[in-house]
Amino acid sequence: MNSSTDVAVSRGPAAEPAALRDVMSQFATGVTMLSVGGDHIHGMTANAFTSVSLDPPSVLACVAHSAVMYEAITKAGHFGVSIMEANQEGLARFFADKKRPLGPGQFSGVDWVPGPRTGAPLLEGALAWLECEVSEAYEVGDHSIFIGDVVGASRGDAGEGLLFFSGAFQRAPLPAR
Ligand SMILES: Cc1cc2nc3c(=O)[nH]c(=O)nc-3n(C[C@H](O)[C@H](O)[C@H](O)COP(=O)(O)OP(=O)(O)OC[C@H]3O[C@@H](n4cnc5c(N)ncnc54)[C@H](O)[C@@H]3O)c2cc1C
Repeated sequence: MNSSTDVAVSRGPAAEPAALRDVMSQFATGVTMLSVGGDHIHGMTANAFTSVSLDPPSVLACVAHSAVMYEAITKAGHFGVSIMEANQEGLARFFADKKRPLGPGQFSGVDWVPGPRTGAPLLEGALAWLECEVSEAYEVGDHSIFIGDVVGASRGDAGEGLLFFSGAFQRAPLPAR
């Protein structure tokens, strides 16, 4: 298709990982903490998350095979999602930090409640929460796509959103009314 717009299009083979990461940094996303409860209790910051279907309600999350969270979700068969508020940037950094402890210790000092349907830790002060039962998982390269049937969903108080854009955390203000 011809276009007068001056767009540089890479026509080579698959983009190098660093190039793809750089391009995707221009796609602003929200930030979530994915979590698993019970014997495999764990939390992980993730932005590769989106809704898939409204009826039946389902969402997806992409998790690196190298992440502890991959094994945790695979074994538990469920995951929780806390959609983070702008003031939770510190928690987002913590749950992406490979130096944090494993197991229940990573949640000490964190305000959370177990999800009523799955027991997955849900962050207090988040904008909204989901609880999901894994219905399907697809291995794609170095990540897996987990499809979650939504078994619980709720909203908290209105607040500013936490965004990840251009490699940095940002605030999404509430729209003016
Ligand atoms: C904004 C943002 C968005 C992100 N989005 C995503 C996303 O969508 N998907 C994604 O996959 N990642 C994403 N990440 C990266 C992810 O949050 C980090 O890589 C995170 O550290 C991985 O979490 P993990 O706990 O599962 O694994 P790890 O960080 O690898 O492990 C957690 C802890 O376990 C310890 N540990 C690991 N293995 C062992 C072992 N065998 N014995 C003892 N201790 C062990 C580690 O030292 C560490 O303390 C994102 C990061 C950011 C900042």
